[in-house]
Amino acid sequence: MAKIKFFALGGLGENGKNMYITEVDDKIFVLDCGLKYPSFDLYGVDGVIPDFSYLIENESKIQGLFLSHGHDEHMGGVVELLRKVNIPVFGTHFTISNVEWELEQKAIDKTNYKLYRINDDKELRFGEVVVTFFATSHSVPESLGIAIKTEDGTIVYAPDFVFSSSIDDKYETGYKNLTNLNDGNILMLASESLGVNNLTRVNNDFLFNQVINDALIKSKRIIFSMYSNDLNRIQKVVDMCVKNNRKIAIIGRNTQRIVSVGMSTGYLKIPQENFMNLRFMDEFNNNNLENLAVIIAGNRHEPYFMLQRMMTNQDRLIKIIPTDTVVTIAPPVLGTERIATRTHDQLSKAGCRVINVEKNILKSSHGDAEDLMMMYQILKPKYIIPIEGEYRHEYVQKKVALDAGYKEERIIMLENGDVLGFIDGVPSRDFNKVKTSDVLIDGSIVGDINEVVLHDRETFSREGAMIVVTNIDTVHHRIVSGPTIKTVGFGLELEKEISDNIINITYEVIYKELQMRELFDWEELKNKVKEGVTYELKSITRKDPVVIPVIIDVSGE
Ligand SMILES: [Zn+2]
Repeated sequence: MAKIKFFALGGLGENGKNMYITEVDDKIFVLDCGLKYPSFDLYGVDGVIPDFSYLIENESKIQGLFLSHGHDEHMGGVVELLRKVNIPVFGTHFTISNVEWELEQKAIDKTNYKLYRINDDKELRFGEVVVTFFATSHSVPESLGIAIKTEDGTIVYAPDFVFSSSIDDKYETGYKNLTNLNDGNILMLASESLGVNNLTRVNNDFLFNQVINDALIKSKRIIFSMYSNDLNRIQKVVDMCVKNNRKIAIIGRNTQRIVSVGMSTGYLKIPQENFMNLRFMDEFNNNNLENLAVIIAGNRHEPYFMLQRMMTNQDRLIKIIPTDTVVTIAPPVLGTERIATRTHDQLSKAGCRVINVEKNILKSSHGDAEDLMMMYQILKPKYIIPIEGEYRHEYVQKKVALDAGYKEERIIMLENGDVLGFIDGVPSRDFNKVKTSDVLIDGSIVGDINEVVLHDRETFSREGAMIVVTNIDTVHHRIVSGPTIKTVGFGLELEKEISDNIINITYEVIYKELQMRELFDWEELKNKVKEGVTYELKSITRKDPVVIPVIIDVSGE
């Protein structure tokens, strides 16, 4: 009979910054410690991590930090956390190697920390509580789901997973461990929501391979632009390049970790005779070899941003010329749609051959509704807590769970800091909210700040005020018009992307409040808008203008 608490310090209602706390009586188990990229990171080089105050105050109760996988959204905050609390860290060889790489980059001696490499068969005992793992299929190897077994049932954490029957052995799901977990007493499942909107399921890479192979055969120098966090896909492109006798170069300031850790752990394999380090090449010919395949990789906007640099003579290694073929394998994410379209336009204007590999032929590495239902079926949890994703993603998972036959009261929606308790296995919401906030950090992204960023920062050098106006109807719970933005003292007009972001944020905050509450606190609503907009502006412009939310009820009541 135990008192269990589950809450998030980050990761709910957002993409990234994942950090979930499970407390069993007086023992704290920390699941992941991620960072989030600012929503339009052209204008800032900071990352955002959770507020660790709760863990600092309760350090003596912490049994360990358990890492699911080597993506920044799940482990990008570990170095900052270890600076504050020196707790044991458990993860697979690949994941811990990523943590060590980050420590080395910051010249921190890793031997001062308790970093433990475990595999998916490991059982860790903490008194009555046992922590076990199961391998999940995701875009980086050695990804795990984590189970915390208590006398009142098991808490299962399943971030970033898909079920796939056509996946490399090294990325296979650990079905045995997963099915063994279900002893008829799974108390709750916290599972991701990021892929829940994918409606067209891609089951294999046949079409993708065909497109890439065809491009390789029919082109001279070829440039692939992709996301750096998808090691599995990078390896696939590398393999096809090797088969086509290509020299291969991988570039991008955020690829250093994945390349270095990938190679040292054997998950990224490029034959020596194919590998090419562009830095050592003749700069006068712009590295223009006909049999060269360049893989540029980065986060969020970077796959496109780097192409733009290559078109405008800003890149030291590559200048895009009309005989090039450019293959983009980076379906836009929220906030990068415009830069993606603009880049495609510019590439076409530059006269090169452009192949855009769209989402509908790419296998997703995040669970869709089918995957979620399969997870529910295998585990049969009593309670489901949708995690990881903007609120609308979590909400769709709720619908999926309802479709799967779960009763409304068995699906629990939480926000960061909301505590879900279980007293002797019975859920309870009678706990105070834990303080959460966004902490901005510098230097999470190692490398030089390029000229464009510096120039854009200059344009925002003057602080000003921003007024955000929205008309709402509190009777019918809807937004009537707006939000619209007026700025004062900004010097220049806001970039459309930024004002769109701010409008979206304001819209989401107000919309959510309107949906969720019968009566709402105007002060609180204004504060939420103010907080959201200020944070967004701060992370983009690093300035702190005065934000004035104006919300008008036009329902006539
Ligand atoms: Zn991931």
